[in-house]
Amino acid sequence: MRVFFGIEPDQQTALAISNWRDRQFGPGGRPVPVANLHLTLAFGGELDIAVIDELCGRVDAWLGENSVSAATLALNQTGYWPGNGIYWLGPRQWPTTLDVQVGKLRQLLASAGARREKQRFQPHVTLFRRCDKAPPLPAQAPDIRLQQREIALFESRRLRGGVAYHVLTAWPLASSA
Ligand code: ATP
Ligand code: MG
Repeated sequence: MRVFFGIEPDQQTALAISNWRDRQFGPGGRPVPVANLHLTLAFGGELDIAVIDELCGRVDAWLGENSVSAATLALNQTGYWPGNGIYWLGPRQWPTTLDVQVGKLRQLLASAGARREKQRFQPHVTLFRRCDKAPPLPAQAPDIRLQQREIALFESRRLRGGVAYHVLTAWPLASSA
């Protein structure tokens, strides 16, 4: 199974993101369907069910022993990565808890046999894929609040028409306020 840890925006937030996006940008690249909008914390890749099961046990243990608070994010920055043609929306700054979560999840994934991720973490929600040039700067600066409620483990399924994500399990976090 192809899996990753991430944050699923609630429906209202997902709609706010896609509405803002659709007001800003004309065609160019492939817009991510509203149901697919998400923020990846740590990518696992292909893992066996038994390994995923054990991984979940380790996440249980970690969150049982530590108080990890939910992140409140202000999505107020857009970016473009020419290498993979991704145009994204993310926070300019983010709370330490997000880095703590990513550090631990990367560590747990590596010990489960996933490829170690060395890239610096830039929290982002992908808006468009396959942009071959930088989209125009947004006319209206974004400022969309994304409140994390939980850490979700997603399965990523390749479908004929694209990709679909499915939450396998999720761990609620204590609210940060
Ligand atoms: P597709 O690959 O079919 O175009 P996708 O990239 O959304 O769709 P996945 O490749 O399963 O689907 O990726 C799931 C999530 O993990 C996405 O947010 C993706 O950006 C991220 N991701 C994928 N590969 C990596 C990687 N090697 N390192 C970090 N994040 C990754
Ligand atoms: Mg991919």
